[in-house]
Amino acid sequence: MDLFSLTIHELRDMLEKGETTSRAITESVLNRIKAVDDKVKAYITVTGDAALSQADGADKARKAGKASAVLGIPIAIKDNMCTAGTRTTCASKILGNFIPPYDATVVTRLNGSGSVMPGKVNMDEFAMGSSTENSAFFATKNPWDLERIPGGSSGGSAAAVAAGECIAALGSDTGGSIRQPAACCGVVGLKPTYGRVSRYGLVAFASSLDQIGPLTKDVTDTAIVMNIITGHDPKDSTSADIPVPDFTMSLVKDVKGMTVGIPKEYFIEGMDPEVDKSVREAVKTLERLGAKVVDVSLPHTGYAVATYYILATSEASSNLARYDGVKYGFRAQGAKDLLDMYMKSRSQGFGPEVKRRIMLGTYALSAGYYDAYYKKGQQVRTLIKHDFDEAFKKVDIIATPTAPTAAFKIGEKSSDPLQMYLSDIFTISVNLAGIPGISLPCGFTTGNLPIGLQLLGRHFDEGSVLHAAYAYEQATEWHLKRPKI
Ligand code: GLN
Repeated sequence: MDLFSLTIHELRDMLEKGETTSRAITESVLNRIKAVDDKVKAYITVTGDAALSQADGADKARKAGKASAVLGIPIAIKDNMCTAGTRTTCASKILGNFIPPYDATVVTRLNGSGSVMPGKVNMDEFAMGSSTENSAFFATKNPWDLERIPGGSSGGSAAAVAAGECIAALGSDTGGSIRQPAACCGVVGLKPTYGRVSRYGLVAFASSLDQIGPLTKDVTDTAIVMNIITGHDPKDSTSADIPVPDFTMSLVKDVKGMTVGIPKEYFIEGMDPEVDKSVREAVKTLERLGAKVVDVSLPHTGYAVATYYILATSEASSNLARYDGVKYGFRAQGAKDLLDMYMKSRSQGFGPEVKRRIMLGTYALSAGYYDAYYKKGQQVRTLIKHDFDEAFKKVDIIATPTAPTAAFKIGEKSSDPLQMYLSDIFTISVNLAGIPGISLPCGFTTGNLPIGLQLLGRHFDEGSVLHAAYAYEQATEWHLKRPKI
């Protein structure tokens, strides 16, 4: 049995019984990276030596009596979370040589629990994209079919988990970037409630939407990682100061008494019929496990993509103003004066999708257009949030597909931004509303590509989301399938 293919909880049990060591697990993961990453291309930076010394430290700490569910477990980090002393590029040329002087809070928490970092994983530049093709360095491939995208923007995280190049990973989700790649790669991905996990040290894309969360091989591992990374952080003013439950207590196998809502706006024309079928079957499984299934309506869903692309680009244009070649990151050579240095650094440092968004957002925020675009977008956002508030008066959970299709071919949508933006049609509203959402495997297409089921909950009710997800997972076997690379 290959250690790299196991889950956190399986490895934790083996470690606790003395059946393996963190060094053995870490070596297994590093060897797996050596064996398959030429094909998958999940990693931007592999920190092998540091990982092995962290592993030895974890083995020593365990002998000295330290215990934690992730002690000695290799967890990869998306390359938009700061890691002190380790390059953090955001998959952008403009941060290509950026070595942060501090750790993101999630990294501090993982390190404090004794996990091991095998390296930093690929993404769409500044997390803008749905395919990981927008990385300034290289595209990541889907381990189920190397000619297809792994989803994005946390495509490196999802592909690395699916391919066994780490045991679990952290990703970030602004409009679907944890859930959609999880669906494409057949793994579990949770976007927690806005405010649940500190974003201190996460490179900002759209600050009113960004959230960090885990990508794992099963729901139990998601709960385990959530227990480590969640909680109030005075360094992030949007981090909620509310009690943190033990998320593993939600892992209950039946869903008796739970009401699941099915929004008609999420089963639309143009959707892959195989996705539709798998998701509907998943809902039947939940019903069989004791849930009551009812129809709900989220009437403003049709405005979500447009609203998101106004708000997210506006916030991005403001957040990305700081990359000017002065304090850190890339600086263009041969500039005539300061303004020329700004302009050259930004035009050479940012890729085409990032530039498109800076331009869109700058336009939406500019004097004379602000009321027509940004302010209107905020108003529609409130309507979208209100849709969910109304639905959650009747139901505990909402079930939808994660994405309208399974993973598409590399290059298929890269010349048509609108088609690419539509990949997020089912995930974006969740960020606009700030609620938690999980994607977990619920089937395969006839072409053997994973399909994702999305389950949504009320604000700060990750517990119900994990509960429904776990019950479904335990009644099915999709999460046990691994790609052959
Ligand atoms: N795909 C969406 C976008 O391009 C969402 C990205 C994300 O969640 N970071 O903006």
